Amino acid sequence: MNTDSIQAFLMDREKRVYNQEKLMEKNKDKTLVTIRINYPGLEKSNYITDDIVNIIYSDIMTYHKKYIVYNDKYKNREGLVCHLLFRADFVSIKKLMIEIEEKHILGRCIDIDVYTYKNDKIIGISRSDLYKAPRKCFICDLDAKICSRAQTHSIDEIKKYFDELYKRYKKKQEFIEDISYNISQLALKAMISEVSTFPSFGLVSPISDGSHKDMNYYTFLNSSMAITPYLKEMAKFSYTYKSPQYIFDIIRNIGLECEEKMLEATNNVNTHKGMIFLMGICISATMKAIYEDKNFYDIKDIIKVMTEDILDDFKDLNLKKELTHGEKLYLYHRFTGIRGQVKDGLSVVFDNIIKEYENTTLDGNNLYTQILIHLMSVVEDSTVVYRQDIQTLRKVQSDAKDLLKIGGVNTVEGKNRIEKLEKEYIQENISPGGCADLLAVSIFLLDIKNKYMNR
Ligand SMILES: [Zn+2]
Repeated sequence: MNTDSIQAFLMDREKRVYNQEKLMEKNKDKTLVTIRINYPGLEKSNYITDDIVNIIYSDIMTYHKKYIVYNDKYKNREGLVCHLLFRADFVSIKKLMIEIEEKHILGRCIDIDVYTYKNDKIIGISRSDLYKAPRKCFICDLDAKICSRAQTHSIDEIKKYFDELYKRYKKKQEFIEDISYNISQLALKAMISEVSTFPSFGLVSPISDGSHKDMNYYTFLNSSMAITPYLKEMAKFSYTYKSPQYIFDIIRNIGLECEEKMLEATNNVNTHKGMIFLMGICISATMKAIYEDKNFYDIKDIIKVMTEDILDDFKDLNLKKELTHGEKLYLYHRFTGIRGQVKDGLSVVFDNIIKEYENTTLDGNNLYTQILIHLMSVVEDSTVVYRQDIQTLRKVQSDAKDLLKIGGVNTVEGKNRIEKLEKEYIQENISPGGCADLLAVSIFLLDIKNKYMNR
């Protein structure tokens, strides 16, 4: 090795350490994370090693954005170097970083150092500080430090390992892209099937605008198309080892962008706000279940874990200037609505609808109408309450129960009653919008069960 290049390398390392010290001095209460490639020799930068650092960096930025107060990356002779400052304690950040090193496909290719500031100096947190075993060598599984000091493995051997892992990562990304696309298409199909269902008790359909003056079938088509790419994004980010709570954080952010696009596509008519929320959670939990190789009904538990803190949304509502429909209903009637439903793991869908209809001989419009009636008989539909009142909700529920008793779509008597109620609900301006969203989610989950998780 050339002494000059060793000198230059050491100088860059010193500069990097200097940068870290400066950053910590100015942010004594924060936790510093530095990412570098874990690669031997003096030639650390190539398109694969740089991309690996970038991938890990953007992963951290994506999933943990809300705690990051500063981020910066630059290239020197150590390769690509990234610094991130977290507004969080060093123990939880070190745990998160160890998880990345251990669970991300490319985790073994990088060094993620975590620092805190104590007694006027910067301190690196080691695995043993958290009672964790030292890192293993990526090739032979011995203690990584032993192999690196003894230079047990040749640079060629390590280079080959990096190349293979990188290829495996790229292949996995292709798979995630494909499955996210396919599953988001099932969500699109479900949303279109829902709005195509007729009769639908005051909802919009191709035959009628129902109880609505500001939207029609085509508003819903536009809205569905605008939403689907965001559902695909949510699916992609949910195929991960990250905990359901972290996944929920990022899909909520995607959901906000998605709402904007929906309003753009509908000239500011709220067609699918509840749908984005429900379908987003379902598509995410489904992808997480597929990632974990779980069974269909485990999706329900993932939804519960994801949304366990969801009712925190209702804290301090009296301080808010503008309230959403859901917030008003909570404030005035203690109605938990759609949030209560997900917190409960959408049990009405998993325990009532899927179990009842997974082996039905009904299909298409008849099946979807019947599911809608079933939902109306049990769901506390906040759209009905918001547009009318609790008494109207109780009437809708008992109408639907009576309808099921006389067979619903399966009998002539049922069909006649359905037509009568459709007219009556339009006259009274009733629209079971909450049930409509749950119908779409039911159609989606029935498809997922049949096509992806039939065991
Ligand atoms: Zn080794």
